[in-house]
Amino acid sequence: MESEKSMSLKVAFLGLGVMGYPMAGWLARAGHDVTVYNRTTQKSQKWQAEYGGSIAASPAEAARDQEMVFCCVGDDPDLRQVVLGETGALAAMNSGTIFVDHTTASADVAREIAAAGKALGVSCLDAPVSGGQAGAENGKLTVMVGGNADAYAAAEPVIAAYSHNTQLIGASGSGQLCKMVNQIAIAGLVQGLAEALNFGRKAGLDIDKVVGVISKGAAQSWQMENRWETMAANEFEFGFAVEWMRKDLRICLQEARNNGAELPVAAVVDQFYADVEGMGGKRWDTSSLIARLNRNDPGKS
Ligand code: NAP
Repeated sequence: MESEKSMSLKVAFLGLGVMGYPMAGWLARAGHDVTVYNRTTQKSQKWQAEYGGSIAASPAEAARDQEMVFCCVGDDPDLRQVVLGETGALAAMNSGTIFVDHTTASADVAREIAAAGKALGVSCLDAPVSGGQAGAENGKLTVMVGGNADAYAAAEPVIAAYSHNTQLIGASGSGQLCKMVNQIAIAGLVQGLAEALNFGRKAGLDIDKVVGVISKGAAQSWQMENRWETMAANEFEFGFAVEWMRKDLRICLQEARNNGAELPVAAVVDQFYADVEGMGGKRWDTSSLIARLNRNDPGKS
């Protein structure tokens, strides 16, 4: 009983988007005392009605006197604003506390935040996630972490509320670099899957039967298992937004310019996603690459 009670922490969660909303919910379910901040306050109110906890009017107000602060916003500039800006979280945090960022952002901004945290005695972990909306809602995310080992050891049991697979990769920035590896691996795969399913359709095959058999062989993937049905049905109004994937690929391509890695497929898939945005698909799931293949003949898709 006592040990259960001592596991209950005072925490804040900044950013209640598709991912942050359920992640903060899992922290509340795990018994932590959660204060939320969201730019659009209606989402905070909805969250509080569902989970209890407290609402703060700014990141600084949310972060004050917490033991750990979690964050999941959009891109580098959003992260800078929420963490380092005028009403940012970091300056309000006490020395000896931990900041965990789940945003997919650049390794540079992760290192910048870690350095700013160090000056204040706050340990900062860059901890981007994989597993999508369903992973967040089911509490089964994969979390890739960069930062100090002691801070990781303290944060990992708390992160476990919404993760089934968490790994410390190395120093600050390496969580983000690991997420880049993940996104580079996915980009070409989704395009390959889109081409394959579209080809099968044009060949007049029964896609249920095709996927039923090939998904047990070497073509198997998370994307095939979780996306083939919606791809075949042209349903894209859910999931991981194309605009976020373009942000991630931009970050990967920028990092590759620095480290000399060649990313020819990721670069071309990024351009395909630009086409999808042109089709009105900025917020469509990334599996919408299949719609692009029929962009000149939508009736046939
Ligand atoms: P989202 O639904 O668009 O939510 C973004 C959140 O960030 C919202 O709470 C938004 O507030 C907040 N925000 C954005 N800019 C802000 C700013 N300048 N100041 C304050 N708050 C700001 O995005 P998401 O799908 O949850 O994704 C969040 C992060 O996780 C992204 O980095 C994404 O790449 C990554 N990710 C997403 C998935 C996925 O499947 N969705 C999977 C893995 C990783 P408002 O509510 O006011 O707009």
